[in-house]
Amino acid sequence: MNSSSLIEQETKIKQPYNQHRRKGKSIMPRYFIWTIGCQMNKAESQRIADYLDSAGYQVATSFFNADLVILNTCVVRQSAENKALGTLGLLKGLKNKHPNLKILVTGCLVDSDTRELKRRFPHVDLLFKPGYYPELIAWEQKQGIPIEQRLLRYARNDTWMSPSPCAFIPIIQGCDNFCSYCIVPYRRGREVSRPLEEIVREVEELAKRGTKEVTLLGQNVDSYGHDLPGHPDLADLLNELSSIDDLARIRFLTNHPKDINLKLIDTVASLTKVCEHLELPVQAGDDDILRAMRRGYAVERYRELANTIRHKIPQISLSTDIIVGFPGETEEQFEHSLSLVAEMRFDVIHVAAYSPRPGTIAWREYQDNIPSEVKKERLNKIEELQAAIASEINSQLQGREVEVLVEGRKKGKWFGRTRTNKLVFFEDAGDWLGKLARIQIEETSPWSLKGEVKNN
Ligand code: SF4
Repeated sequence: MNSSSLIEQETKIKQPYNQHRRKGKSIMPRYFIWTIGCQMNKAESQRIADYLDSAGYQVATSFFNADLVILNTCVVRQSAENKALGTLGLLKGLKNKHPNLKILVTGCLVDSDTRELKRRFPHVDLLFKPGYYPELIAWEQKQGIPIEQRLLRYARNDTWMSPSPCAFIPIIQGCDNFCSYCIVPYRRGREVSRPLEEIVREVEELAKRGTKEVTLLGQNVDSYGHDLPGHPDLADLLNELSSIDDLARIRFLTNHPKDINLKLIDTVASLTKVCEHLELPVQAGDDDILRAMRRGYAVERYRELANTIRHKIPQISLSTDIIVGFPGETEEQFEHSLSLVAEMRFDVIHVAAYSPRPGTIAWREYQDNIPSEVKKERLNKIEELQAAIASEINSQLQGREVEVLVEGRKKGKWFGRTRTNKLVFFEDAGDWLGKLARIQIEETSPWSLKGEVKNN
């Protein structure tokens, strides 16, 4: 899992179908989706939104003017779980005032046994496990929305129709790895891959509608396909997707250092549409800690792997995740993580302080004995070192021209990403949404770049 991509903030899913709203009083219910967590949660919220759109619902701007609220939750860290629980508390008050308000909860807060959640939150109308759309659809279809008001395009739940330059496509759900600190296998269950043909069909449809880049998502994309007939793997999927004409770029995340193989690395090196960026979480730079985390590799294996990747794909940018303050982590063991960071010179590091998750192996077997001030201090040290490294790496782009796929506008500036996943801003009066811009880099920082358009 990419613990990195946790986004502990509300994400309001923007809807492309707002323009179809009729003037005057709406007769259709309005929905609001609150999302916290990783890219997988964001992708799933977009799918839910798309289903509700197709069923004729309209978008609300907040909890307060919604008839239906969906919370898409995350429990990977305590802070994310607290936010979800706090929001559920807020909604209880709202439902007391507006008894017709419907509240649905999904995401990693919901596991197979929902009895305890039902007892604690009786105001919730439906709890459904992440990705279990048939439960949502069955519930929604009992809500009495007249059939003639439905725009229902969905015969199945595998086609995400929203046109956008960049799309996230879940390809495998769940995880079989059971890293000792991680709650994901308990909440998202064992690995289940989507059929290759279904993914290809979805991406073809998106590309026809204007999507230029897809990011294939999975807690461990290296496991993709092992449970499917014929055992296609991620490299096979990349080959299939590469032949889709209108698609310009393909990314994927997250890889696992124990599972990534040479076939995949060679495929990334050979396919021009596959971007030069890998998310390869190392988690720690000390073998004893890696063993206690049950990661299944030693530091030396990671080092060799990174060297092989850099040799075969010289332009590659490498991102990683690091957890500091794992139970029992000594100062010396932490220093090993720090020196690995200095040695590997990652492009991006997502660093997190260890947070015990009830039910996990680490929670059962180890005491969370690193004081929070020490965790914070270690986290800051990694972040400071990484900021200096990223600053040096990015400064090498000064004056160079890069290709940017433009994703949108923020504060009057266009923004998008390079093939190596660097965030780039530029100003221009033209309409660049969804286009590939050639940008000459004029300013760099550890986190983003600024430049000027060089296309004719
Ligand atoms: Fe990632 Fe390990 Fe959690 Fe699986 S168990 S999602 S590999 S951290």
